[in-house]
Amino acid sequence: MSTAFASPSETTSSSAAGASASSAGGTPRRSAVSAVVNRLTSPKTIDFVDVPVQEYYSTNVFTKSVMKDRLPKSVYKSLLQTIDSGAKLDPAIADIVASAIKDWAMEKGATHYAHVFYPLTGATAEKHDSFLSPTSDGGTLSEFSGKQLCQGEPDGSSFPSGGIRVTSQARGYTIWDVTSPAYILENPNGTTLCIPTAFVSWTGEALDKKTPVLRSMQALNQQAQRILKIFGHTDGAFVASTAGPEQEYFLVDRNFYYARPDLLNAGRTLFGAKPPKGQQFDDHYFGAIPERVLAFMCEAERELFKLGIPVKTRHNEVAPGQFEIAPVFESANVAADHQQLMMLTLRRTAEKYGMACLLHEKPFAGVNGSGKHVNWSLGSSSQGNMLDPGGTPHENAQFLVFCAAVIRAVYKHQGLLRAVVASAGNDHRLGANEAPPAIISIFLGDQLTDIFEQIRAGGANSSLPSGTLEVGVDVLPPLPKDAGDRNRTSPFAFTGNRFEFRAVGSNQSISGPLVAMNTIIAESVDYCATRLEAATEKDPDALNGAIQTLISDILSECSPIIFNGDGYSEAWHKEAEKRGLLNLTTTADALSSLVGDDVVSMFSKYGVLSERELHSRLETYQEQYCMTVDVEANLALSIAKTMIFPAAVRYQNELASTCANLKLVGYEFDTDTLDSVTALVKSLQEGIAVLEDAVTHDSASTPEDECRHRCDAVLPSMLKLRETVDKLEEIVADDIWPLPTYQEMLFIK
Ligand code: ADP
Ligand code: MG
Repeated sequence: MSTAFASPSETTSSSAAGASASSAGGTPRRSAVSAVVNRLTSPKTIDFVDVPVQEYYSTNVFTKSVMKDRLPKSVYKSLLQTIDSGAKLDPAIADIVASAIKDWAMEKGATHYAHVFYPLTGATAEKHDSFLSPTSDGGTLSEFSGKQLCQGEPDGSSFPSGGIRVTSQARGYTIWDVTSPAYILENPNGTTLCIPTAFVSWTGEALDKKTPVLRSMQALNQQAQRILKIFGHTDGAFVASTAGPEQEYFLVDRNFYYARPDLLNAGRTLFGAKPPKGQQFDDHYFGAIPERVLAFMCEAERELFKLGIPVKTRHNEVAPGQFEIAPVFESANVAADHQQLMMLTLRRTAEKYGMACLLHEKPFAGVNGSGKHVNWSLGSSSQGNMLDPGGTPHENAQFLVFCAAVIRAVYKHQGLLRAVVASAGNDHRLGANEAPPAIISIFLGDQLTDIFEQIRAGGANSSLPSGTLEVGVDVLPPLPKDAGDRNRTSPFAFTGNRFEFRAVGSNQSISGPLVAMNTIIAESVDYCATRLEAATEKDPDALNGAIQTLISDILSECSPIIFNGDGYSEAWHKEAEKRGLLNLTTTADALSSLVGDDVVSMFSKYGVLSERELHSRLETYQEQYCMTVDVEANLALSIAKTMIFPAAVRYQNELASTCANLKLVGYEFDTDTLDSVTALVKSLQEGIAVLEDAVTHDSASTPEDECRHRCDAVLPSMLKLRETVDKLEEIVADDIWPLPTYQEMLFIK
C-alpha cells in the first residue's frame, strides 16, 4: 500500500516529546497544528489492497490444518486431544512438533523464535532467540528442540511478582501453551515465530495472566460437566468459556501526541478545556469513517486477519475521534492472547498512518471514555452455547440452571468483579455517565426477568413472545423482534445468548475479568450441581422439582443484583444502597476485594490462584496504581511549571504593559482580563504548591494507605490544578498557548 499518510517525515513533528517552544513554529502546539494541516491538505493516495481475505487469512498462524499437513497422524491426533479436549500434553511429541513448527516458520522467513508471555503489568512480553547455533567448522545449524519449544527461561526478574520471586528464588519459566496457536509476527527487518506461553516461578506459582486463565477454564469445565451429566449429556466434550471483547479506542494525529507530554507519557490529557463543540450532537457516532482512519482500519484488520484474529465489526464510537473494533468470539484463553495482539496491532498500525492510538480509558475529560466490553459465555463442540435460551426459554431447564448460576455468582462476588476492572485509568471512566457505574448489577431483560419471576412464584409456564417488529412501512421486511431490549447502562448484561461485562477498561488485559468470571461461575455451577445431584441421587424423576426449588432459592437470595433500569441515574445509586449492593467507587476502595476470605477460599478450592498468588496480585496492582498516579502528578507539575506558567505570565506581562503604556498617554485600560489572569496565575502557583506537597508528603505506611493517599490527596490536588489551567486556556492569548487543544486533537483527522 502506498499512502501519503505514512511518510515517515510527516509522522514526527519538529516539537517532539513536548519540548518547549520550537524555533520555527512558535509553541509546540503551533508546530503540531501546522504539521497536521500540511499533511491533511497535501494530496493523498491510498491504494486499498484488493487481495481477497481468504488468501491471507491465518497465513501467519500454525493452524490445525498446517499441523495436519506437517505432523505425523498420531502426533497430530495427540495434539488435538490436548487443544480441543483439555487432555494432558504428551511430552514425547514435543521434538516432532518443534521441528515441524521450525520448518514452517523458517519457510516464512523467520530467523528467531520468541516465547511470548503476559506478565502482571498487563502488557505482552517476548524474549527472542535465534534458530541458528554456530558449528565447530565455522558454519551454523538451525536448531529448535522440543525442550526449546516447551520451556524457556527468560530472566524477566524485573516483572512485578508481588513478592513471589525473591532474589534468591528468582528463576522464572515460560511454558508452551499448546491451546493458543503459534504465529509469525512480521517486522520490517524480519519475522519471528511467536509461541504463546505461561510464565511461572521456580516454585510453580503463576507470575502471569495466562496461567490462571487456563486453570479457571479447567475448573469451569469440570463443574459444567456435572450439570451436563445431570441433563444426560455425557460425551465429555470440553466446555470452554468463550470471550468476544469489543475494543474502543481513540485516534489522534501523531503530531498532537508528541506535542502533549501528558498523552505521550500518561496516555491521557491531564489538562484541556472543554471544546465549544464536543460530542453533544452525537454526529460522530456510527458516522462515515474518515478516509485516513478507514485506511488505518483496513490495514490493521489485514494484519489481524493474517494472525488469524477474526475481527468482524468496525465503527465510529460516540466521542469524536473514538472508534471500535470487535472480533468474533473465541475460546477465552485464545481470545485473551488475541486481544493483546489486537492492542499491539492497533498501536503499530496507527503509528504507520501518522496517528496515535489511545487505549486509555479516559484520554479526554468530559468526553466519553473507552471500555472493552467482554462478551462471555460457555459452550462445547457437542452442546453449543449453553447460554442460548432457544425459542422457549422457560422450557430450557439446562439454560435456566446455567443462567441462575451466573446470577448467583455475580451477586456473591460483586466485590471481586469490581476489583478485576479496577485501575487508575478505569476510575476516571466508571460512573462518569457514559460507562456503567461502579455498582455491579445484572441486566436480564424483560423475557428472562419474567421467566425467573414465574419460577419464583411456583413455576414457569410461558415465555414472553418475541413477536414481530412492526415499522409501518410496507416496503420494509418484517423483522423478528428480540425478546429482550438492550441496556447500555448495565455493567453485566444478558445480551441474548451471552453476558456482556461492560465495566472492563479499554486498556486492560481481559485475563483478570475472564479468570474472575470463569471461577465465580464454576463455584456457582458446583453449588447447583451438588444440589441437583443430591436431589436426583435416589429418584431421577425428582429433577424438575429440584430445579424449580434450586432456582427459586437462588432468586430469593440473589435477586437484589438484578436491575433492568437506568444504571446511570442517581435513583439507582440510592436504590442499590437500599439493596445492600457494594459501591466501590475507586481502585483504592475496590482492590482489597481480591483477597476477601470468600475469594481466597474459592480460588484455592478450584486451584485457580493460591492465597500467596492472590496477595502477590493485590500487591502488584496496588503498586501499579500508585506508580500511575505518581507519574501523572509529576507530569502535571512539570507541564504546569514549564509550559503553562510561562505562557500565563507572558500574557499577564503583555496585558500589564499595555495597561501601563496606555496610562502614559492618558488612556484608561479596562483591567478585567488582567485581573482574571493575575488571579489565575496566583491560583496556579498555589495549585502547584499544594500538589507538590501531596506528592512529597506521603506518610502512608501500608500499601492500602499508599493507595488511599493517591486517591484522597494526590488526585484531588491534580484536579484542582487542572481547573485553574483549563480556565487559563480559555483566557490566555491563543498564539502563546502551548498545548494542542481538545478541539484540535479531536476534530482534525
Ligand atoms: P454489540 O456492540 O451490539 O454488543 P458487537 O457485534 O459489537 O455487538 O459485539 C458482540 C460481541 O459478542 C462480539 O465480539 C461477538 O463475538 C461476541 N459474542 C457473540 N456470541 C458470543 C458467545 N457465545 N460468547 C462470547 N462472546 C460472544
Ligand atoms: Mg456490546
